[in-house]
Amino acid sequence: MFNNKELFKTVFKEQLVSRLGRSMEDATAGDIYKILGGLIREWVGQEWAKTNQNYRVQQEKQIYYFSIEFLIGRLLGNNLLNLGILKTVQDGLLDLGWDLEQIEEQEPDAGLGNGGLGRLAACFLDSLASLKYPGHGCGIRYKYGLFEQKIVDGDQVELPDNWLQKSCVWEEQRLDERVEVCFWGRVEVREKNGSPVFDTVNCEKVWAVPYDVPIIGYDSSIVNTLRLWSAQPSIDPSVIKSGEFNRHDRFLDYTRSVESISEFLYPDDSSYEGRLLRLKQQYFLCSAGIQNILRSFDKLELSYTKLPDKVAIHINDTHPVLVIPELMRILMDEKGYGWDEAWDITTRTVSYTNHTLLSEALETWPVHMVRELLPRVYMIIEEMNKRFCGMLLERYADRQYLVSQMAIIEHDQIKMAHLAVVGSHSVNGVAELHTKLLKGSVMKPFDDLFPERFNNKTNGITHRRWLMHSNSKLSHLINESIGTEWIKHPQQLLQLKSFKDDAAFQEQIMNIKRNNKLRLAAYIAQKQGITVDPDSIFDVQVKRLHGYKRQLMNILHVMHLYNEIKDAPTADHVPRTFIFAAKAAPGYLLAKSIIKLINVVADVVNKDPEVNSKLKVLFLENYSVSLAERIIPAANVSEQISTAGKEASGTGNMKFMMNGALTIGTLDGANVEMYEMLGDDNMFLFGLRSEEVLEFYKHGGYLARDVYEQEPWIKRVIDQLVVPGPFCTYDREFELIFQSILEHNDEYFVLYDLDSYAKAQAAINEAYLNPQDWASKSIVNIACSGRFSSDGTIHQYAEDIWDIRQVQPSNFV
Ligand SMILES: *Cc1c(COP(=O)(O)O)cnc(C)c1O
Repeated sequence: MFNNKELFKTVFKEQLVSRLGRSMEDATAGDIYKILGGLIREWVGQEWAKTNQNYRVQQEKQIYYFSIEFLIGRLLGNNLLNLGILKTVQDGLLDLGWDLEQIEEQEPDAGLGNGGLGRLAACFLDSLASLKYPGHGCGIRYKYGLFEQKIVDGDQVELPDNWLQKSCVWEEQRLDERVEVCFWGRVEVREKNGSPVFDTVNCEKVWAVPYDVPIIGYDSSIVNTLRLWSAQPSIDPSVIKSGEFNRHDRFLDYTRSVESISEFLYPDDSSYEGRLLRLKQQYFLCSAGIQNILRSFDKLELSYTKLPDKVAIHINDTHPVLVIPELMRILMDEKGYGWDEAWDITTRTVSYTNHTLLSEALETWPVHMVRELLPRVYMIIEEMNKRFCGMLLERYADRQYLVSQMAIIEHDQIKMAHLAVVGSHSVNGVAELHTKLLKGSVMKPFDDLFPERFNNKTNGITHRRWLMHSNSKLSHLINESIGTEWIKHPQQLLQLKSFKDDAAFQEQIMNIKRNNKLRLAAYIAQKQGITVDPDSIFDVQVKRLHGYKRQLMNILHVMHLYNEIKDAPTADHVPRTFIFAAKAAPGYLLAKSIIKLINVVADVVNKDPEVNSKLKVLFLENYSVSLAERIIPAANVSEQISTAGKEASGTGNMKFMMNGALTIGTLDGANVEMYEMLGDDNMFLFGLRSEEVLEFYKHGGYLARDVYEQEPWIKRVIDQLVVPGPFCTYDREFELIFQSILEHNDEYFVLYDLDSYAKAQAAINEAYLNPQDWASKSIVNIACSGRFSSDGTIHQYAEDIWDIRQVQPSNFV
C-alpha cells in the first residue's frame, strides 16, 4: 500500500471515513495525522511481531538500555524515512491537498527527557534498530514530560506538558504483561533447608503496566521496542477485606500516591534531586524492567547462570542503578541462588555509563530513606558494601583511608556511582577527555582497583534524524555528490572533503543554508513578529541553561557589541543574529535570571534603530527536539563554550557540525575530538584548558575582580547589570548575576575567558567576509561529522561492552 501512491490515497480516504466519519474535504490536519499515524503503526505490526518472534526463536542475546529519560521527540517523519516510504506518502498527501510537514507538526513532541542524556538514549535506539541489533529501551511513561516553557515579560514560566492529551498513536498498552512492584513493608527471615529465606511482608503493591513503542530501523526490517512503564493501583481483594482500605479517603490516598510515581519527569538537568518520589520512580523502573527481562528469559528454559550470555543490561547514568540489587534480590530470594553465584551473574550482565563529573549531580541517597522504602534491597546494598569494604581492608591494609573513600555507604549516604562501578563489569565515560578526567579524578581509586573495567565510548547522534530528516536538501545534495553509501556508512561523508574547493558545490551548500535560514526567519517572524536578516551570521546557542554552559558569557559579549555599535554607529560591522533557546530548572534562580537578561538585551537591541540592522538577539521559547530540528540546519555558528572539563561530551555540538555550522568552542567534551579532525582552520577555539581550570580550583590564583578592574569593556558590561541604563531598569536588577561573578568569584570562569572569546568572535567575522572560504570550512565540518554518528558509537558498545551481534532478518522464519 505504501509503495503505491494511488493505492495509498484510496486506502487513506477510506480510513478517514470509516475511522473518523469524516470526508477528505472536512478533515483537519489533526485528523490527517491521526489516520496516517494509525496506518503506519498498523503496517509495522507485522515486522514488529516478526522481529520479536525471531529474537525468541533464535535466542539472540538482547541488550536492554535502562534510562530514566528518553527524549524521543516526534516519530512520524522519522518512521516514514526509516520505512523508506517518505516520498510516496509525501506525494500522496500533496495530491490530497496536504503538506506533510504541516501534518508532522500535529504530533506532540514526546519530551520524556531533560536534554543530552535523554536524547542520547533516543539516538541509540534508532541506531540499534537500524544496525539490526537486538536492543530495547526501558523507561517510564511520564504522564507529563518536561515542562512547556513560555516567556512572559522576559521571564520563564513553566506549564505542564500534557503530551498524552491527544493520545499517542504509536504506543501499545500491554496489560497482560504488567508486573507488580513492592514498596515499604518489613523483611521477615525464616529458615528453609537450613538456609535463611527473606520475605517482605505488608508492602504496598503497585502495578507497572507496559506501553510499547515500536522502534523502526532504517531499511533494516527490524522493529525493536521501547517499553515505557506506567504505575497503576493494584488492589488485592485480600488487602481490601483485611480492612486496609475500609476508609474511602485512604483508598484515594493510595491511588493518588501510586499514580504520582509515573506522573511527571523531574525537570532537573545536571543537578541532583534527592526526593522520595524520585527514588520511587527509579526503583519502579528497575524492578519492572528486571522482572520483565527475567520473564522473557524464562521462556528460553535455560539456567540463570546463562543470563549474561543472553542478556546485557545497560544503565544510562546511575538513575537505574537499583537494577543491580534488584537482580540480586530476585536471583537469591526467588530463584534460590547463593550470594556468590548471584553476584557473578549480576556483574557479568550489567554495564554503566557515567555522564557527569559535576559533584552536585552525583547521586546519593540517605540510608534511612532506602531502608524504609526498599527494606530488602537495602539489606542487599548493605551486604555489597560489607563485602566490598572487607576486600578493600585486606588489599589496602596500609592505606585504610581508601576504604572510606571508596565505600558504597558512607556517613549514612549511599553513593550510587560507587554502587554502579562495583556491581557492573564495564564503566564508560562519554568522550575521551571526560573518560580521562573520570579515571584521573572522581573514579581514580576505582580505576586503580579495576583498570579493565573503565573505557571510553564517545557519544554520537543519529544522522537519520539530524541530517536526513531535519535537513533533507543537504542530504540530497550529498547523495548527488558522493552517492548514498554514507547513509549506511556515515564515515563515508569524508569523501565530501574533495568538494571543499569546488565552487559549484560551495554555491549549493550556501544556497541550502540560506534556504534553511529563510525558513527559520519565517518561524521567528510568525512567533515573535521580528524580522531577521538572512544574510547576517546566524549564531546559535541552544541547550539547557546552566552556569557551566556559559550562556552568560555569550550574552555579556552581545552587550559589549551593542556598546561598540552605540559608541561608533557608522563603523562597519558584520551583521549577526544571536539565537538562544534554553530551559532552566524551575528552582535554578541564577539560570532564570540569565534567561531574563537575554530577553532584556534582546528587547533593547532589536528595538534600537541604530543597532538592529547589525545586531539582533532572539530567545526562542520552549527548546525541544522539534525546535532543535528547525534551528540547527539554519545555523552558521555553533556556540559550544562550556567551562573546560565540565561538559562531559555534548551532542548538540555534533548536530551543528553535521549541518555545516562552524563551532566556536572550548576544548571540552567531544569538542576535543572535533578539533582533532578539524584543526584551527575549521574551528574557532578559545579559552582555558581543562588542566588550567583544575589548577585554579586546586590552588586558587584567579580573582574575577582583577579582570573586572583591568579590562574596561568588561567592567562596563558587568556594571550595566546593576546600574540603571540600557539593560537594567531599576537599581541592581541583575544583582544575582553580578554577585555570582564578583562575590562568588565566577565559578565558571566567565570573565577569565571573556576576552579570548571576544577575539575568537572577531575571527569569525573575518572569516565570514570570505563566503567561499566559509563554505569550504562548512563542507569540511560536514565531511568530518560522520565520525559522530551514533551508529559508530553503538557498534563499539556492541563489541566492547555488550557482546551482541547484528541479526540477519533474511534468516528470519
Ligand atoms: C541534542 C539536544 C540536547 C543536548 O544539547 P547539548 O548542547 O549537548 O547540551 C538538549 N536538548 C535537546 C532538545 C537536544 O536535541
